[in-house]
Amino acid sequence: MSRRKLVAGNWKMHASKEGSSTLVQDMLSSIKAFDRVDVAVCPPYPYLAQVQALVSESRLALGSQDICEKTGQGAFTGEVSGQMLVEFGCKYAIVGHSERRQFFGDNDDRVAAKFLAAQAAGLTPILCVGESLAEREAGQMEAVLERQLKAVLAAAGVKAFGQAVVAYEPVWAIGTGRTATPEQAQSAHAYLRQLIAAEDAIIARDLRILYGGSVKPDNAATLFACADVDGGLIGGASLDAAQFTAICAAGHGA
Ligand code: PEP
Repeated sequence: MSRRKLVAGNWKMHASKEGSSTLVQDMLSSIKAFDRVDVAVCPPYPYLAQVQALVSESRLALGSQDICEKTGQGAFTGEVSGQMLVEFGCKYAIVGHSERRQFFGDNDDRVAAKFLAAQAAGLTPILCVGESLAEREAGQMEAVLERQLKAVLAAAGVKAFGQAVVAYEPVWAIGTGRTATPEQAQSAHAYLRQLIAAEDAIIARDLRILYGGSVKPDNAATLFACADVDGGLIGGASLDAAQFTAICAAGHGA
């Protein structure tokens, strides 16, 4: 069994028109040597077109940070559909990021609908799941992961995970500098894989489960060495080409 590592950068609501191009150009030259890892960036929507133009001939894939659960076109002011994202070269769509769940009302049902919409458009959803600090301290980590994952399993079916990526992102580790230990990450990832394996062992074996939450150049290699950690979803460090490249190098070497 060998799952290729994936390192995906989530720029969140950061960067600028000019800064996006510089960042991607720097990444394109520095990640060249690390061809044993898949790499993607997820810029804010307005920068997709210019990033698409820069990465189109490269192995740097493009993703969106969110997607509308409605498909095609329609009277949904402010939303962006999967079909539109595909037009701009997106391969991935992040769904269920904890910031969407926390600040924008993305509950389990809506996340499941976004997962389905991404796949319907031909995108690979990166489904984020993870517990808050209070939930971890109350011993509810597994229950939260199970609830979040099973909402999507119920809506999409286990076979859909053959064309998806899961990201374990403990909320307490996102943007806090407080990274999960390799043991904490491994145990959550193994639990998620076991939930999928209960329905389909082959899909579970091949599913990429990324870790996200304050991944930096100095902790990436130990996290990526865990048996069930198949790469990372990188926030802050993906805004710095040198840091992001060092994390890609860890994925290449793992
Ligand atoms: C994220 O935004 O998904 C994330 C993991 O952020 P950070 O790496 O900054 O913790």
